[in-house]
Amino acid sequence: MLSQRAKSLKPSPTLALNAKAKQLKSEGNDVISLSVGEPDWDTYDNVKQAGVDSIQRGETKYVPSNGTPALREAIAKQTSDDLGVSYSPDDVTVSVGGKFVLFSAMQMVLNPGDEVIIPAPYWVSYPTMAELAGAIPRVVVCDQSVGFKLTADLLRQNIDEKTKLLVLNSPSNPTGLIYTKEELAEIAEVVKEHPQLVVLSDDIYNRLILDGSDLAPHILHVAPELKDRVIVTNGVAKSYSMTGWRVGWALGPKEVISAMTKYQSQSVSCTPGFCQAATVAAINDSQDQVKQSVKELIKRRDLAVSEFNAIPGVKLDQPEGAFYVWPDVSSFFGKSFNGKVIQGSHDFAGAFLEDQMVAVVPGKDFGLEGYVRVSYALGVDRMQEAFRRFKEFVAKLD
Ligand code: GLU
Repeated sequence: MLSQRAKSLKPSPTLALNAKAKQLKSEGNDVISLSVGEPDWDTYDNVKQAGVDSIQRGETKYVPSNGTPALREAIAKQTSDDLGVSYSPDDVTVSVGGKFVLFSAMQMVLNPGDEVIIPAPYWVSYPTMAELAGAIPRVVVCDQSVGFKLTADLLRQNIDEKTKLLVLNSPSNPTGLIYTKEELAEIAEVVKEHPQLVVLSDDIYNRLILDGSDLAPHILHVAPELKDRVIVTNGVAKSYSMTGWRVGWALGPKEVISAMTKYQSQSVSCTPGFCQAATVAAINDSQDQVKQSVKELIKRRDLAVSEFNAIPGVKLDQPEGAFYVWPDVSSFFGKSFNGKVIQGSHDFAGAFLEDQMVAVVPGKDFGLEGYVRVSYALGVDRMQEAFRRFKEFVAKLD
């Protein structure tokens, strides 16, 4: 009965692991989930209230497929201010979460056989999204030797006549590392050499910056002339702790934005109007609260970095954004747990969950073996307990 597409479709590993952690918890286990990228604090009160007020006003019916005028105006203004290029509300389309926005952008720009450059480690869903658009993910391994980031040289070496799209994500999921302006400028030069190349910029963590600045550097900061070849995407999930509200957006070339809107009108119809009303409050009235959340994340990042670096056999680069760390755990590969050899990050994460009820995501799912992704969007007490368990676990390996 199933299509070929369905037969090869795998579930999102991060969401699958999160579901497994929840199931173990419901069975009475004391589980600590460092798996899914979801802030542990609540959606801000003013944002929740804006959503409730909208429902009370009866805004519970269809709204335009490209988003409400009020939200598109707020997004256009914020993004223009952030990136230093000018967007109008007509340059914006809103949809059900950053994930669907990325998905629908790929559907609208990729033809079967087109290649998509995806620097690894990458967020787990990019390659599958490209495949679902009939395209070919061209995974470019960016290991420790290049600081886990795509370089201009690597980009140049991987472009051919079939290359259509480059996915950029900074701060990065899973490393939390940020591209500098200089690195982006070098990448932009290569993009300029290849007029067929479109950039899909996933900016979902761009306000969660832990080095004192308010915003991550962006390719449009250094190459505003690429505006018509960059699809900017963002959403409310991470910065405003609104993962469940499912609001994301894209800005970019008019033909792409209008195609995405048509695609949405034929698929999800629209994003709930009351979620969009809450998003207006998030964008316009919550920036001070985001800054408070960032202060809390800095404490947690510092704890995670110092704890991991104090564990013999673990190596870690300090991340400057998002809420992930990406420790190298490869020194434990080849050791045994309960008589079974740990061959890689899947075995490591599986044994750690089984033994200590702590969920982390295997690096292999992000396209680079040797690491695990640890989300530290979790209270300090629980994090300390997670580190105690981590030490107990690795001490058992022989
Ligand atoms: N982006 C988050 C993560 O990487 C949420 C999970 C997902 O949508 O895959 O954990």
